[in-house]
Amino acid sequence: MVTTGSTKEYLDPVRYISNESSGKQGYEIALALSKLGVKTTLIAGPSSINFSKDVKVKNVTSAKEMLEKVKNSLPVDIAICAAAVSDFKPRTIAKNKLRKSKDILDVVRLEKNPDILEFIGKNNKNRPRIVVGFSAETENLISNSYQKLKEKYCDIIIANDVSKKNTGFNSEYNKVSIINKKGKVESIPKNKKSYIASIIAKKIIDKFLVDDKTFN
Ligand code: C5P
Repeated sequence: MVTTGSTKEYLDPVRYISNESSGKQGYEIALALSKLGVKTTLIAGPSSINFSKDVKVKNVTSAKEMLEKVKNSLPVDIAICAAAVSDFKPRTIAKNKLRKSKDILDVVRLEKNPDILEFIGKNNKNRPRIVVGFSAETENLISNSYQKLKEKYCDIIIANDVSKKNTGFNSEYNKVSIINKKGKVESIPKNKKSYIASIIAKKIIDKFLVDDKTFN
C-alpha cells in the first residue's frame, strides 16, 4: 500500500487548504513495485496524474478519507506513506460559500489532522512488516528525518531536501536519502523520480525478503 499526493481540506464548497505535492514520487514507487510483481494499492489525494492501469488506485480528497481507505486496505505486508497530508483541517465545512473576511475570520477554526503514518506504524494488530515514511525538510535533513522515523515508528524513512526549486515538490526530479532504523544513511544522487522510485522499490523488497523467516 502506498499513499501519495496532497490532501484537500475544504472550508466551504469552493475553498480548501492544500499543498504543492504532485503525488508523482509515490505514484512512481507504486508503479515500480507493480513492475516487480508486487500487488500494489495506491491511495492517492487529488492530482493531475494519468494513472497507469497496472496500479490499483483509490482516490481520496481529505486526510480523513485517506485514513479510512488506509484502514480498509489493511492488512498489508508493506506500507509506504509518501502523501503530503495537510497538517490541519477546518473544524467544520460550511454548506455555503463563506462571506468574505468576516465569516472566514470569525468562523474558520482549525484542528489537527490524524497522522496516518503514525497510525500505521503504531498499529499493533495489523502492523505491516515494513513501514516506510517520507520526510520533506528544508534544514537538518538527516537528523530531523531520523527523529521522524522514531516518532512515527517507521522501519525506513526517505528524506528529501525540498529547499531547492529543481527537485522535490512538483518537479520531475528528486534527490533523497534512505535512512534505516539504525540510522544508516544511503544517499541517492539527483535523478528522475521514476529512477529514484525503482531504487526505493528494490531496497524495500530486498529488506522484505531478507527479513522473511519463511523465505527460502
Ligand atoms: O511530520 P511530517 O508531516 O513531515 O511527516 C511526513 C511523513 O508522515 C510522510 O510519510 C507523510 O506521508 C506522513 N504523514 C501522514 N499523516 C499526516 C502527516 C504526515 O501519514 N497527517
